[in-house]
Amino acid sequence: MKSLANLLQDLLSLFFPELCAGCGASLFSNEREICTSCIYHLPVTNFHKDPSNELAKQLWGRFNFKQASSFVFFRKGGRVQNIIHQLKYNKRPKAGFRMGELYAIALNNSETWQKPDLIIPVPLHPSRLRQRGYNQSERIAEGLASVLQVPVAPGSLVRTENTQTQTKRSRFGRYENLRDAFSCPDKKPLVNKHVLIVDDVMTTGATLESCCLALAGIDGLSISIITLAFTE
Ligand SMILES: [Zn+2]
Repeated sequence: MKSLANLLQDLLSLFFPELCAGCGASLFSNEREICTSCIYHLPVTNFHKDPSNELAKQLWGRFNFKQASSFVFFRKGGRVQNIIHQLKYNKRPKAGFRMGELYAIALNNSETWQKPDLIIPVPLHPSRLRQRGYNQSERIAEGLASVLQVPVAPGSLVRTENTQTQTKRSRFGRYENLRDAFSCPDKKPLVNKHVLIVDDVMTTGATLESCCLALAGIDGLSISIITLAFTE
């Protein structure tokens, strides 16, 4: 039996339907942000089950990490592209939280994936944060954290330089620019910790690389990587 509140919500949704971030269909009251059909059809990577997955291979030799994976494949015109668009450009931070939750459920069921001590989202530059109103990677991190029962430490990395002007620079200059883009203001709480760095989409890996450079030299620190989506 549905509760009165649920019935009212279904009735309200007839007039103001909440739409699925993946396909735009009206959501039922038991669905949040992403409909059941989209969840079923998500192009999951299962990278967390394979230590030599495509994402890990791209990062090998650039910095040391324990495990690296992505939840889903990013494909042009697909559900994941819609979800990322809603998350980043259409003021739907909850879609990021939901995707984080969904991935964490899969991670919790894995026998090999090792739970971190702390989750650190890749920070946005302050001007971008003001413009968007939230950091999408932080919302993904919060969704992961709520299921994994691990704290999020968003202040562990800060963005120090605006990389928006980077398109004007040379390839080398661009890399150098991003290299200095992050810093770790307080390294002490990270000593002997296993941290999970979370980003939205992995394309070149340059962002993740510069985050890890900022954490270099911390005693006993081990790093794992998760991105919501991976571009094939
Ligand atoms: Zn859908």
